[in-house]
Amino acid sequence: MSRVHSAVPSNTRPDGDVILYPTEQEVRKLGCCICGMPASAHHIIGCGDRGVGMKSKHMAPLCPRHHNQGNYRESVHAGHEGWEDEHGRQVDFVVRTREALGYPRLPLDVDGEPIL
Ligand SMILES: [Zn+2]
Ligand SMILES: [Zn+2]
Repeated sequence: MSRVHSAVPSNTRPDGDVILYPTEQEVRKLGCCICGMPASAHHIIGCGDRGVGMKSKHMAPLCPRHHNQGNYRESVHAGHEGWEDEHGRQVDFVVRTREALGYPRLPLDVDGEPIL
């Protein structure tokens, strides 16, 4: 998909690479990445790409149950370790979300892991 992302949030990394982030509005429109229900934009947690007290700019769409209104393992905010155990890694949903919206791929580290 070719698109122009001129007005979206971006960030320049220390190495000079510029990364573009989907907006919350774009992310929400996809529907929950687990069940497809109407979703809000979840800023991934515990993945180490932000300073103390800062929200990650990386997002994935989640419905209330899979976001913050369910039990442990069901809702990511009830404990992201249990949620990832149940559903998969947040970072992989970020990758799929970016793909679905036509955003450039994240750079990979030597192990082939996306650099957040
Ligand atoms: Zn859901
Ligand atoms: Zn969230």
